[in-house]
Formats: sequence, structure tokens, C-alpha cells
Amino acid sequence: MIKFLDLLQVNLAHQQEIEERMLKTFRSGWYLLGNEVKGFEQNLAKYIGIKHAIGVANGLDALRLIFKTYIELGIMQPGDEVIVPANTYIASILAITDNNLTPVFVEPDIETYNIDLNKIEQAVTLKTKAVMIVHLYGQAVFSDGLKALAQQHNLKIIEDNAQAIGAEYKGTKTGNLGDAAGFSFYPGKNLGALGDAGAVTTNDDALAQTIRTLANYGSEEKYVNKYQGLNSRLDEIQAAVLDVKLKYLDAENDRRREIAKYYIDNINHPDIILPLYPADENAHVWHLFVIRTKERNRLQQYLAWNDIQTLIHYPTPPAKQEAYAEYNHLTFAVTEQIHEEVLSLPISPVLTDDEVKTIVNTLNTYK
Ligand SMILES: *Cc1c(COP(=O)(O)O)cnc(C)c1O
Repeated sequence: MIKFLDLLQVNLAHQQEIEERMLKTFRSGWYLLGNEVKGFEQNLAKYIGIKHAIGVANGLDALRLIFKTYIELGIMQPGDEVIVPANTYIASILAITDNNLTPVFVEPDIETYNIDLNKIEQAVTLKTKAVMIVHLYGQAVFSDGLKALAQQHNLKIIEDNAQAIGAEYKGTKTGNLGDAAGFSFYPGKNLGALGDAGAVTTNDDALAQTIRTLANYGSEEKYVNKYQGLNSRLDEIQAAVLDVKLKYLDAENDRRREIAKYYIDNINHPDIILPLYPADENAHVWHLFVIRTKERNRLQQYLAWNDIQTLIHYPTPPAKQEAYAEYNHLTFAVTEQIHEEVLSLPISPVLTDDEVKTIVNTLNTYK
């Protein structure tokens, strides 16, 4: 069977180094807010090319904390609007609504699945305070026009970089394109921990300092609480694992690119729409390889019969979830079409050439 993602193999690729660092952390007797987190934060900031990286408990918290901090700093207020793609994982939206901000959904571009940059301006109102871009499936979405629009309307650009660590826009890494970015190190992400983990990156000193404080009970000094904070810290042991794996991220993203290129060059079927390989190959780190087809469930069944595991990212858009009943009446034609047609093929640094060929041959003989 070809698994959608063989996480054990992904981590076994660095088994010895990971085990040594975990053991060292265990034996240090220091498990939170220590040298492992500090070291990983420095290495992550350096990798992204940014001033600050702050380790937090998970990707959703990274995004929630960014908005919570802007509210504490008086830059945003409950009821303000945040422009966000209608086609995303629900965490992007939860981070907004958890802070009593209002999501304003914008349709994606059918060719990239990312927010349609041409539709952002028409969604701006007097209440808009931010645009959250989501580098979906691992592909960077940005433009100089977006930056100019944000400046013109005094909007913050917040990146949901959960899926795209390592991707670049014109030589700048995602996570360093806007005002602040949230990262997820959920085990299945391109840089995955052995459990939950996340980070915020920013060049803004005040934002960084306040996020750090809010993530630690709103406290800068033990038992002195400046804000009503959260407990959202990155564990030392997860930081140790991430620090080992960060060194191999570029090589692993390159392997993903190689597989994506092979799929695109060799899958040839009239019923299957392939993603586009971007002109700047650094713009995509292929967290997911997502195809589209009209009879998606039939294709998924066929692949399952042939021992190939696939997943759907995602079957239901956030605005159509029961959790967001207040938005269920809205229609997003492009988003809904995407959710009905997408299917994610296996892609990971440990997928073998033979497995990739088997997947291609199986797809090409689909009837
Ligand atoms: C994974 C993911 C998140 C949330 O990350 P967690 O670490 O699971 O909380 C947020 N946004 C997107 C687009 C994601 O894919």
C-alpha cells in the first residue's frame, strides 16, 4: 500500500540525531522556555531572514496570538474586518473569529487555489484592518500590488504560513512578506514536530514582545500579569526535534519539487486537471499535490482499490461548516467547485521513485 504520508519514515530519516537531541533535552531537566526553544527560534528567524521568531504551542495559536496582540496594542478592535480566502483550512478563520473580528471571505483563483489578488480591493471597507493571506498547499501568494493596497488603506498583512515554510516570493521567504506570520509544525507539515508546535515570525519589536508575553500568561515577570494571556508555549523537546529537522528542510522541499514535476510531466488523463508548476519554482514547496476531477469520489475509490491512499483538502469550506452557521447562506462558486473536485495525491520526501511511477501509471490507466 502506498500511504498518503508515511510519517514514521519521514522521521526515521533523521532517527539518530532526533533521538540524541531528545535524550539530551530529557536529561537536561529543563522542559519549557529554555535553550532548545531559544536556539530553534534563532535558527528559524535566520532561515526566514527575519528579526523575530517566537515559538508557540501550535499553528492556530500562532495566528490567534497575532490578532490578540494587535487588539492589546490598540491597532485592531473587536468588530473590525479581516479579509481572508474563502478556500482555506478552518484554522485561518478560527483565529479571526476567536478574537471577535469579522472574516470577509474572498474567492480563490481557480489556477492557483490561492486568494484571488484581484478581488481583494473590492472587499476593503472602512472597517478592514488586515488581509490574511494563506499560502495554500505550499504555494506563496503575494504581489507588490497587495503591499501597495495595504499601505494605502493602512492594513496589516498577516500570513498563514502553516503549509509553505521554505517557499519564496521574489527571493523573500514566506513568513517575511507581511507584518506577521503564523507557522504550524503539526507532524504532517513540511517541518513537522512529534506533536503540536507552532511559531510566529515578525520584524516588529513591539509585536514580538507582546506575543511572547501573551503566550506566557500575559506575564513578563513571574507572577506579574500585564495582560489576560494564554498558555501557549513551545516545548523544549519539540524545539529540539524541529531544530534537527530544520537543517534538512530545503533538501526535503527539493525532493517534493522533484516529485511534483514528475507528476506534472507524466500524468496524462483527459479527466484530470493538474496544478501548474510555477515559473519561479521556489514559490512552491508542495505541501500538498492537489489535482481536480469531476468525479472525484470515483477516482479516489479507484486509487484505493489500487492500494493508493489519497485525501481531500478540504471537503467543506469554512463558511459552509455548521460552526459558521451565520455564513452558510453565502455562496462562493469557485471555492465550492474546488471543494467538490480536489483530491490530494501522496507527496513527501520519503516517497520513492517506484511509488511515484506506480501512482502515475495507475492514474493514466483510469477509465
Ligand atoms: C495546519 C494549518 C493550521 C493550523 O495549525 P495547527 O498547528 O494544526 O494548529 C492553520 N492554517 C492552515 C492553512 C493549516 O494548514
